[in-house]
Amino acid sequence: MAPALSLLGGCCRVTLAAGRRLTGSPGTPPWLRHLSARYSSGPEDGDMRRYLSAHYKEARRGINELIPSISSNLFNPSAIFANNEMSLDDIEIYGFDYDYTLAFYSKDLHTLIFNTARDLLINEHRKIESSLGAHDKPLCKGISGFDVVSDSEVIEMYQGSHVPLEQMSDFYGKSSEGNTLKQFMDIFSLPEMTLLSCVNDYFLKNNIDYEPDTIRDVHVKGLMYRAVEADIERYIRYGERTRAVLAKLANNGKKMFLITNSPSSFVDKGMNFIVGKDWRDLFDVVIVQAEKPNFFNDKRRPFRKVTDRGVLLWDKIHQLEKGKIYKQGNLFEFLKLTGWRGSKVLYFGDHIYSDLADLTLKHGWRTGAIIPELKSELTIMNTSEYIQTMAWLQSLTGLLERMQIYRDAESQMILQDWIKERQELRDMARRIFNPRFGSIFRTDHNPTYFLRRLSRFADIYMESLSCLLNYDLHYTFYPKRTPLQHEVPMWSEQQYPGAFGIPFLQEIAQLK
Ligand SMILES: [Mg+2]
Repeated sequence: MAPALSLLGGCCRVTLAAGRRLTGSPGTPPWLRHLSARYSSGPEDGDMRRYLSAHYKEARRGINELIPSISSNLFNPSAIFANNEMSLDDIEIYGFDYDYTLAFYSKDLHTLIFNTARDLLINEHRKIESSLGAHDKPLCKGISGFDVVSDSEVIEMYQGSHVPLEQMSDFYGKSSEGNTLKQFMDIFSLPEMTLLSCVNDYFLKNNIDYEPDTIRDVHVKGLMYRAVEADIERYIRYGERTRAVLAKLANNGKKMFLITNSPSSFVDKGMNFIVGKDWRDLFDVVIVQAEKPNFFNDKRRPFRKVTDRGVLLWDKIHQLEKGKIYKQGNLFEFLKLTGWRGSKVLYFGDHIYSDLADLTLKHGWRTGAIIPELKSELTIMNTSEYIQTMAWLQSLTGLLERMQIYRDAESQMILQDWIKERQELRDMARRIFNPRFGSIFRTDHNPTYFLRRLSRFADIYMESLSCLLNYDLHYTFYPKRTPLQHEVPMWSEQQYPGAFGIPFLQEIAQLK
């Protein structure tokens, strides 16, 4: 009963769309003819209420039977997920970004960045008073200052929900001339978004025209670096697992390099804390202040050597030596000096534009994205509340799709109740992740813009580098074959649990 229902629920598109086309054709499989016949006619006695109610109850019963099977295959939040097939056997060289890839920060850093930027705004743009305070009010889907703007108001304000291409941010997610909508893509964006909200709120309350330029030019990075260096233990969250990952790669004879936009002393102090004073022995090449994504595109910027005392030397660089730190440079020179080309290189970063996009599109390195939110989202997805909500939402959607063919008044009244229930389920599914934004990976049925970019630019993705500790270095990552809209999902994970998936909670223990 359970598998049959799953098949019915998933195959509604085939039943309705393909049934008419295929009926009577010699190649129509018997099961498809059966399904088509089953839903093309209504009840023999014409009692639509009883007929629809019976199907509703049957779907409910089937979902209840299916849930134990789904719940027995929970995803491990520390798993690595693949967009493309990739074997670690082929990877000889591992590269890393620094911030939010090797180093993770405590929430104190958000407060530091917010307060620093706020003080700069107050001091440099005296229009804003100290009443901005230290807000931690979370943001929501549509906001004006701190006020939630309903979806319908947003749609009215922008004449729909479509964002014209010319208003979107540029390729790297930044706002520039004409591209007014900036994308906030990394964890450093959290205090920035909060400050924007505060400033907007202040402008609205004081009837001041909003000027994006006012806060665009607040440069807090230098001040942030000095504050973090002065109190490393307060701001860097943990280091043991990063250290263990690097040790594992070194013990397996892998080469390693670091390319970061952060400055030398900041990285040195952080890595001393995370890995130890000998951290440079693990890395074959260290590049600081690389100015990614320019590093990947601008051939003109040369490498410079930085001395242990932070002095920049101007000698032409003919080789990148182990144990030394280099500044700036560009990828073309890097490839020439190291010979590390193509798919034997795997680079990890947390910013899918600045770190990963160019490498994927132009240079052919393999890429790994670090997405910390993945852990909390997977933990939620493993709860029975989420499983029950999503299973019933999908089954109810399948019922609606099939039963919409009954246009009589009584059927339509029942279907309206189902549509209402479906909307409540969708709202509930969004609230489970985040009451304002929902999941960062999905918006209702569809992948978010972020996920689409992630799928394009990252071969693999995981919540933290430490996930690598769960796999040996010969492991091959296989992406799941997810059904396309015109494909029958008969090979989906639900019908054959574990057949095409990543390791689940039980199996992953064996891989270490
Ligand atoms: Mg980073």
